[in-house]
Amino acid sequence: MSAIEARGLSKRFGDASVLNGVDLTVAPGEVVAVIGPSGSGKSTLLRCLAGLEALNGGSLSIAGVAAGGKVPLARALKGRVGFVFQNFNLFPHRTAVENVAEAPIVVRGDPPAKARERALELLTKVGLAHRADAYPGALSGGQQQRCAIARALAMDPEVILFDEPTSALDPELVGEVLAVIRDLAAEKRTMIIVTHQMDFAREVADRTIFMDEGRILEEGPSGTLFSEPREERTRRFLSKLR
Ligand code: ADP
Ligand code: MG
Repeated sequence: MSAIEARGLSKRFGDASVLNGVDLTVAPGEVVAVIGPSGSGKSTLLRCLAGLEALNGGSLSIAGVAAGGKVPLARALKGRVGFVFQNFNLFPHRTAVENVAEAPIVVRGDPPAKARERALELLTKVGLAHRADAYPGALSGGQQQRCAIARALAMDPEVILFDEPTSALDPELVGEVLAVIRDLAAEKRTMIIVTHQMDFAREVADRTIFMDEGRILEEGPSGTLFSEPREERTRRFLSKLR
């Protein structure tokens, strides 16, 4: 079974057609990078895949759970799609460990002591055990993003979606977050990563997708897409970044 199976996804906001028939299949353990110009629909695609936006067309199933049933997809998935946002989106009035334990307690009904123990393990995994009792405001951006990754992992997600996870970070903090994502890739986690870090995409992603105007214009093994893009539009986009 595919981790993600999307066919003909379309999404409009008012008159604006933002996704125009996106087909995407992601196998378990696969890491997919999504690149493309600002406004091309990358965030909207991730939000649709997470069940955070209603679709205007197409079909979608995540780990065998289909969208369009009686229960909204996000609820049916119960946290099994992790989402890591550009701006971390931690709960400001909860400590790091409380942020990580929150969903397992509230959404899954884990006993608080067990959830806390697991949260501490995950904070250790992302190198934040020593900051477990700090509030987000007292953490650096890199620490906040690592906490947000631990929070996503706490729900044992089938898929983790990253929306420009390092774009809000000072340059010197980017590396620590990429290192955590690199470790997750080595564990064969299924992930989709929207990023402008082309070297990172090339290194860590099995496959890279180039989006333009709400469509997948080109995709392929990361090595090939970056070194021999087929489409002129992809070539132009990549050359502007160099
Ligand atoms: P990207 O992440 O590739 O920069 P987005 O998915 O954020 O692109 O946005 C694609 C287009 O959809 C943009 O034109 C954006 O203005 C529009 N858009 C995104 N979210 C909304 C929304 N909630 N309401 C209206 N328009 C939106
Ligand atoms: Mg975006």
